[in-house]
This record gives sequence, C-alpha cells and structure tokens, in this order.
Amino acid sequence: LTVKGLYVHFPFCVRKCRYCDFYSIPRPDLIESYIPTLLRESHEYNGLSFQTLYIGGGTPSLLGADHLRNLIGGLRESFDLSGLVESTIEVNPDSASRELFEAAKESGINRISIGVQSLSDDELQSVGRIHNPEQAIKAIKQAANLGFERISADVIVGLPGQTWKTLHKTLEALIETGVQHLSVYCLSLEEGTPLALSPPPNLPSDDEQAELFGRSVAFLTGHSYVHYEISNFAQKGCECLHNLNYWRGGEYLGLGPAAASHLKSKRFKNTADLPVYMKNPTALVEGVEQLDPRRKAAEEAMLRLRLLEEGVDAAELNTKFGGDASPVIMQLDSLTGKGMLLACGSRYKLAPAMVLTSNPIFAEIIGC
Ligand code: SF4
Repeated sequence: LTVKGLYVHFPFCVRKCRYCDFYSIPRPDLIESYIPTLLRESHEYNGLSFQTLYIGGGTPSLLGADHLRNLIGGLRESFDLSGLVESTIEVNPDSASRELFEAAKESGINRISIGVQSLSDDELQSVGRIHNPEQAIKAIKQAANLGFERISADVIVGLPGQTWKTLHKTLEALIETGVQHLSVYCLSLEEGTPLALSPPPNLPSDDEQAELFGRSVAFLTGHSYVHYEISNFAQKGCECLHNLNYWRGGEYLGLGPAAASHLKSKRFKNTADLPVYMKNPTALVEGVEQLDPRRKAAEEAMLRLRLLEEGVDAAELNTKFGGDASPVIMQLDSLTGKGMLLACGSRYKLAPAMVLTSNPIFAEIIGC
C-alpha cells in the first residue's frame, strides 16, 4: 500500500524557546534510546511505501550523523522508501554541521528546512533561540555547498522589537543565499508558554504584525517567490510536497509521540507523553476518529483553501464526496457572496485580504 507521506517526530530540543508549544522536551540524553523505540513503532506498519518523508520536531538535527543514518536505515527496513520523491529534515542552525548534512545526503534526504526565524541577534534572544544569525547563514551555505537544491528557511513575523527594517534585512539576506522556499509564520502567544505568560512590552500589536506580514508578502512575491500557502513561499516547482499532501487532504502516517496520522479514512494521534511512549510505542494511539463523509468534505475544503493559488474545486469535491459535498459547496458560495472567497468557475480561493484572518472562515466551513 502506498501512503503519500511519512512524518517522523523527533521530540527533543536543547532548551525550549519562549513561544513554543510543539511537543518537544529538553532531554537530548534520551535520543539514543528513542531511535529503537521509534523503529519499534514503525514495525507496526511494516511494508507500507511512501512518496515523501519529513523528519520534524523538536530539533531533528540533534540526531547527529550516526543516529540519523541509523534512523533512516531502520525506517528502510520497515518500509519501502525506494519511491521517495522528497525527504526533508528540519535543522536548527546551532546543531547544523557538515557531517550531519553529509549523512543526510547519503541517506537520501534531498530537502533541508532550517529554523532561521530571524537574522537579528536581539530578536532571536528575545524569544530564547539559542543560535545567532551567523550560524543560520553558515548552515544554509553549508547545505547549498553540499549540493542540496531544496533548502527552506523558517522566519517569524511579529517578534519582540521587530520592525520592517529588521524583517526586511532578514528576508533580503535569506533571498541572497538563494533559498528556494520560505515559511513565514506569525508569532502567536500560545497558552502556557513563557512568552504568553509575560509578553514583552515591545511585542508588535496585531495590526503591526499584519502590516509586517503584508509587506513580507509583497517583498517575496516581488522576488519571484510564489505565495502558494498562507505561510509558505516557494520558487516555482519548489513547493513542499509533503505539506502539499496535508493541504490536499491526503493520507499520511506519523510516528513518534504527538504525531498525527490520517490513514484509511481515520485520523489518529499518538500520545504526547514521551515516557509513556518509550514504554510502549505501539499501543498508544489516542483519539481515533472515523470521519463521516460530510465532515471529510468540509475538512478537505478548509485545508485546500490554505492553498492560495490552487484553492478548492467544487467539481472535484462533488466527484469525491457526492451529495455530502453539497452543504460545503453552499457554504463556499455564501462566503463568496460575503467577499471572503473568490470564485472562478468551479474553483474557490481565499480572498487576498482574508489570508491573515482565515480562521473564522475555516470555522464556518467546518461548522456547516
Ligand atoms: S527549537 Fe523549535 S521545537 Fe524546539 S523549542 Fe524551539 S521552537 Fe520549539
């Protein structure tokens, strides 16, 4: 059976960033025992084949060269990975190294996603990032010099003290490195994070953040990056295939604690508890949700609307879900009438002015 995407979660970081609510813990000492545990989980799904692989986290670059080789070698024993068209590893600048990139290359990884976030020392420090701008640029150049042709950089908009001057400098320097892809996320204050508990006074307001984002969009699209998803920009043909599959409602398997899966029309998630996962990685699926067709149609429409160029095609929804798509399509028409979506033939797209305020639109689609 071919499933489009395989996600491997690596839940370790050196230290938590102040804004982060991803499932990761500062226990790099557990990495060694984590790999065999994760491979035990992979055996549960023996024989599947995948088109994309994404090793995310956390900080997967903490694996180092040897563990990375072992991890991918082990996954190849469980799965048929001979048809992979894209394999990504997330790398943080502080743990990037030539050895790691070489091991990634030898293991068949062809895409590197680097957690740059900002090229301003002050901004990085204000949210507890442990790298500096020089390390970030060095990591990008090192990956490029080793022949990686698909490099992505993450950038955060709305960091404490950030202005268009500093953000522009970050984006300009990143473009100069030749990165093919940029993920530009708006900082959000997630409940319980240190940043939300004591937000600094120089945090840009929502309006200022929206303006910074809007200027970033104009800047990047002016430099030949296609704004193909709400937070993602790519040179033509360099979109992230693994994530495109999510947004197109495709199936994927997630391994590791807190990893989500969408397999055989079911959605499920592994427990976000590393000690529990380490004891029994194969019996810990929580929240198995068999989606009814109407809900599936709504979810797919919502996800596809994230794709700003592609949008969602009512004709395709009809073919896939039949009558279950009807209420969803009626809702798309109604949102178009209110100016929130644009319709072109049977295709609907998010109106450009709605890109940053899309959540209420998505809620209406899911609730229809
Ligand atoms: S490196 Fe990434 S995953 Fe780790 S704490 Fe920072 S933001 Fe979270």
